[in-house]
Amino acid sequence: MYELTEDQRDLKQAARNFGRKVLAPRAMQIEQSGADFPADVLIQMGQLGFLGLDIPQAYGGQGFDTLTSAVILEEISGAWFSAASYCMTLATGPIIVAGTNEQKQRILPAICRGELVTAFALTEPAGGSDAASIQTFAARDGDDYVINGTKFFITNAHRADVMVVFARTDKSAMRGEGISIFLVDKGTPGLVIGQRFRTMGHSANPIWEVVFDNCRIPAANLLGEEGAGFKYLQNDFAKIRAVYGARCVGVSQWAMDYALRYAQERIQFGQAVSSFQGVRFKVADIITKIEAARQLSYRAAVIADRGDAQAPAAASMAKHFASDICLEATSEAIQIMGGHGYTVDHPLERMFREVKLFQIGDGTSEMLRILISRFANRSIADGGSAQLA
Ligand SMILES: Cc1cc2nc3c(=O)[nH]c(=O)nc-3n(C[C@H](O)[C@H](O)[C@H](O)COP(=O)(O)OP(=O)(O)OC[C@H]3O[C@@H](n4cnc5c(N)ncnc54)[C@H](O)[C@@H]3O)c2cc1C
Repeated sequence: MYELTEDQRDLKQAARNFGRKVLAPRAMQIEQSGADFPADVLIQMGQLGFLGLDIPQAYGGQGFDTLTSAVILEEISGAWFSAASYCMTLATGPIIVAGTNEQKQRILPAICRGELVTAFALTEPAGGSDAASIQTFAARDGDDYVINGTKFFITNAHRADVMVVFARTDKSAMRGEGISIFLVDKGTPGLVIGQRFRTMGHSANPIWEVVFDNCRIPAANLLGEEGAGFKYLQNDFAKIRAVYGARCVGVSQWAMDYALRYAQERIQFGQAVSSFQGVRFKVADIITKIEAARQLSYRAAVIADRGDAQAPAAASMAKHFASDICLEATSEAIQIMGGHGYTVDHPLERMFREVKLFQIGDGTSEMLRILISRFANRSIADGGSAQLA
């Protein structure tokens, strides 16, 4: 079980203040203009200690546990979801776990200062949820590897200084094995940034096709052991998904708080819209669900740090539940604001478009349900109960 410490509450409040003052106004401007996430905000986030939340202090990060990261990212995400994507990423996990000291020193401190952007390149045209079926191949050639293949939907590929790339290194390996991780630097010959995919939201962090056309990299850019790529991701997914749950909570809360402030000011039929029973019950139902999603996400964060067999299921429950609540919360928040909520003068229409991603990215809700039901069946088969301990 958990109880937030005073430090965690202070960090949460600091993140909320930064979100209100700096992130939310920039989100309105940048996401509408279609510009990239601003480099100056990234630097500022680094200076204030909002980057590298999970990166050890020895490499310039904060070295926070997952619950502390979750409470900070809850607030950052509410203000601007795109900003939170830089604070704790899937790309850095394998570097922390499997990188050499040289690789860590070269990449991690610069990430924490907001000076280096990474991309995480796993998804392919034929390998989405079924990540084990990726076809990109890295062939050993003397002191180098030569990579060939195509990746889809790679966030920030166009500006990434370092790309963390998953490629098959053994065509005859069993399913899920024979896949390795490589660090590919920006500008490497044969690394081609292809088409940009136009999306419903999150335009500050655009997604791209990436083609590896005989892309030659030094063998020293292999991350960890050859063929062990997925092993380095296992516990990372639990941490990232638990935190993702908290990020959904942050967006839900931000949207409802925003709508409620509006409803307290808006007068119809001689009274504040917030005083109508139809609105009050709606608010009561939604904030109850948000709180339930928050508790589940915080608990999943604690379990993720335990790193035991329950971690994937707990994190899946958190992300699956919180992402559903987020769709409901942003939709109802717009409803409470009526026509004004639907205009681009307020952030809710953008948030409503953005939240659909939460049921898709970093594991679709269907794949998460598979993990949860696997946990349930295993618990019963072992003679226990299908509940988190
Ligand atoms: C905005 C955005 C950013 C992204 N950023 C990145 C990134 O930076 N790096 C990266 O590598 N990838 C990234 N992705 C890719 C993302 O991780 C994939 O879209 C996601 O994993 C789903 O894969 P897919 O799109 O190929 O869908 P598919 O796997 O084709 O799934 C289609 C549908 O079938 C369902 N489905 C699939 N298998 C099963 C099953 N066994 N049982 C039940 N239902 C199933 C899915 O849940 C889904 O509803 C991003 C995607 C988006 C939209």
